[in-house]
Amino acid sequence: MGWSVNIGKIFGINFRIHVTFFLLLFFIFISVLPQHGFQRALVATLFICAVFVCVLIHEIGHSLIARRFGKEAKSITLLPIGGVATMEEMPEKPAQEIAMSIIGPFINLLIAGVLYLFIGHWAGVGVPNLTPDSAKGFFAGLIGVNIMLAIFNLIPAFPMDGGRILRGLLAIRLDFVRATTAAVFIGQAIATFFIFFGIFFNWWLAIIGLFLYIGAGSEKQQVLLMSFLRQVPASEAMTTEFQTLRPDEPLRRALEHFHHGCQDDFPVIGEAGVEGVLTRGRILASIHEKGLEVPVSEIMDRTFASVDPKMPLDDIYKKLLSSRKTAVAVVDKGSVKGMVCLDGISRYFMIKTAMGKAATMK
Ligand SMILES: [Zn+2]
Repeated sequence: MGWSVNIGKIFGINFRIHVTFFLLLFFIFISVLPQHGFQRALVATLFICAVFVCVLIHEIGHSLIARRFGKEAKSITLLPIGGVATMEEMPEKPAQEIAMSIIGPFINLLIAGVLYLFIGHWAGVGVPNLTPDSAKGFFAGLIGVNIMLAIFNLIPAFPMDGGRILRGLLAIRLDFVRATTAAVFIGQAIATFFIFFGIFFNWWLAIIGLFLYIGAGSEKQQVLLMSFLRQVPASEAMTTEFQTLRPDEPLRRALEHFHHGCQDDFPVIGEAGVEGVLTRGRILASIHEKGLEVPVSEIMDRTFASVDPKMPLDDIYKKLLSSRKTAVAVVDKGSVKGMVCLDGISRYFMIKTAMGKAATMK
């Protein structure tokens, strides 16, 4: 995710903080300062930091369980709205999805429980308050906020953990796509209730409802897209009209093709076949960094450069996203038959949806 600062590694997972999170801290500080003074403004900022540490532990929980199932978390980014763990892939087995999702709210309850055990008799449990009167209020609020986080995350609607738990439970009986459709339907019904109830009684509830409604919709889109792409081999969605480059050609040559044609990504073909792919991102970044005479072989991407024509599009799509690439060459018996790029995959899906084929293919 752009605009985030790398803080370091926790359990081997990259931990990042988005710059808007620092803006949130600053905003909290200056909004409390005029009325309550410096010390309370500092306490309010500290309280937000403490809440986010709990959110971070929640996300680490998800990532560690995912790792047990062989799905590696690439990074955890702290945003003003909470933590986001970027996974290479989500587990699709029902039991795995349930275990991975339920750990988050469980951790918040555990934090609340441990805090209560040690300081509950002294601090009690309270409603979170940015400007508590005493240290007691601070910790009572922290216990309260963890209980609220657990409940909030258990709402059975995407993108909350509860939505995933619900899908996992439904997927024990139904196939993955049907389970998702049913979970999205239930989630959107709850979201609609939140929106209507919230308009009359609490605006925050309405905003949360809207957020859940949109989140559920995009989860459904994503699952439908993946289940559709799973049935399409690379050979069907590849572009067959394309220019190629040689490893010893200068960047200037790639730029000529780039400028005069509509092609963004180029397979680089040497003696041994496809040696790499030169993508638009690399071309544009290298003009400034390396100049126009740098050989293509020096700036091309060598990893995940080619796929088999039979490889399903969903695998290619996931691999491109997780390796932050935009295109890959399709190679059959040593010769390049075409290119599959991210834009091309979306375009293919759009065309098929427009033709009504995606809806009927199941
Ligand atoms: Zn969670």
